[in-house]
Amino acid sequence: PAAPRAASASDPKAVLKEVFGYDEFRGDQADIVAHVVAGGDAVVLMPTGGGKSITYQVPALVRPGTGLVISPLIALMHDQVDALRANGVRAAYLNSTQNAAERAGVEQDFLDGELDLLYVAPERLSAPATSALLQRGTLSVIAIDEAHCVSQWGHDFRPDYLALGDLSARFPGVPRMALTATATRATHQEITERLRLPDARHFVASFDRPNIQYRIEPKVDPRRQLLQFVRAQPAGSAGIVYALSRKSVEQTAEYLRTQGVDALPYHAGLDAAVRAHHQQRFLREDGVVMVATIAFGMGIDKPDVRFVAHIDLPKSVEGYYQETGRAGRDGDPAIAWMAYGLGDVVQQRRLIDQSPGERSYKMRLGQHLDAMLALCETVSCRRQNLLAYFGQSSEPCGNCDTCLDSPDTWDGLVPAQKLLSTIVRLQRERNQAFGAGHLVDILRGASTERIRQQGHDALATYGLGADLSDQDWRSVIRQLLARGVIVARGEYGVLAVGDEGAAVLRGESPVPLRRDVLGRGGGAPRVRK
Ligand code: ADP
Ligand code: ZN
Repeated sequence: PAAPRAASASDPKAVLKEVFGYDEFRGDQADIVAHVVAGGDAVVLMPTGGGKSITYQVPALVRPGTGLVISPLIALMHDQVDALRANGVRAAYLNSTQNAAERAGVEQDFLDGELDLLYVAPERLSAPATSALLQRGTLSVIAIDEAHCVSQWGHDFRPDYLALGDLSARFPGVPRMALTATATRATHQEITERLRLPDARHFVASFDRPNIQYRIEPKVDPRRQLLQFVRAQPAGSAGIVYALSRKSVEQTAEYLRTQGVDALPYHAGLDAAVRAHHQQRFLREDGVVMVATIAFGMGIDKPDVRFVAHIDLPKSVEGYYQETGRAGRDGDPAIAWMAYGLGDVVQQRRLIDQSPGERSYKMRLGQHLDAMLALCETVSCRRQNLLAYFGQSSEPCGNCDTCLDSPDTWDGLVPAQKLLSTIVRLQRERNQAFGAGHLVDILRGASTERIRQQGHDALATYGLGADLSDQDWRSVIRQLLARGVIVARGEYGVLAVGDEGAAVLRGESPVPLRRDVLGRGGGAPRVRK
């Protein structure tokens, strides 16, 4: 049975203290809460661990009625509701895991005004019965969690989210909030438009995690590199090592154990009891290294994780940011380390090719992968790159590998000019545009059917880039894309000259490129002078 609401429930700060036990709001929390309590809509972009929950839970307790929380994470609902009840909040959820009697009980509590917070999965919300139920009660606030799921460009797209756009019509006068930890400029705009929040105030927290040091290196001998990294950490450091496959999780944990590291495996294929035991040891003891698939970490609250290591390339920058974000939540120094290799890229491209789905969907997955690779291959500050991906500009950080030990570079001006001039010629002489694959074929002087058909072997730049391998060219192109020298357009990702392209064509802008990128194995580039 939940405790009765405190008498001081009209004061947000008192609710924060009495219900949640916190003395102060953090960051934008106080402003967001005040705005929503006053009835305003809000779009909240805050990194994982930033404290989004408080921003709708407190208004739900302060305003009359029940706060409706829409969340796709059904697996977490039970825990979230339990945690709230432990604080005396009258919380419940409606989802597909319940039987009819449980659902009926929750519905009655809602109608009786006995609920402060009601968590609902988006697919429930589109059911007419749920909609009718909600109309009969009083809502204090509607919070749409994981709001980026409305974006068709993201990797978490959920069709049910599109229907959430009509909530303002269905519940006029109820303040609405959209919350997410993954927001590029494009996603931010899509959230605002599709969830119909034209008058919302936008709260964009910094995505910077200054205490995390970013380090990314090419794979040479991944096990030894990982071991060296783990051994270099202070004794007793807790860490997470992320791997893509269950097999790799088990083998890596086993290897680390033979080397004297207290490593444990964690993946969905393990027995539930084993998983729970490993998780408990990780949470309670010092110095446990959890080797896990990305399923591990969601909803796990361990502030003193000192490092997160990736031994396989994440599928996207969003994924990388979320996973590395599990390090150093206590604010003390932490390290995000990764080793990546050509094998990762080949494997992921194959997975993308084999995945069911439309061409445009695969294109998007490919773009996510390219952005991740561009972060790996950047010669400038990793953090600057990462934050730019989330639409935030910043200065070089002084706390990443490229800032601390400047990478070995070569001058990519000439190849960049060859590529740009090919793009310009095709555009001017033939009014044509192509994606990276065909442009590289032209530059390398390949004799493909398409080249012969189009007569592209007659172009002045045909074969001019044969001194670089296909992989080298891909890497050059990713870097040029990341810097805005070229841009990819449309569904097919055809390349065009970007804002920074003119200066490169005139030879006025240097194009330093990393020497240690994929396919080179650290060797010197074979660039003709
Ligand atoms: P998010 O949903 O943004 O990932 P959470 O809402 O889960 O973040 O909050 C992350 C952690 O921060 C939780 O452990 C939460 O209890 C804590 N927290 C949130 N707000 C405050 C605050 N004002 N003071 C102290 N701790 C807070
Ligand atoms: Zn830096």
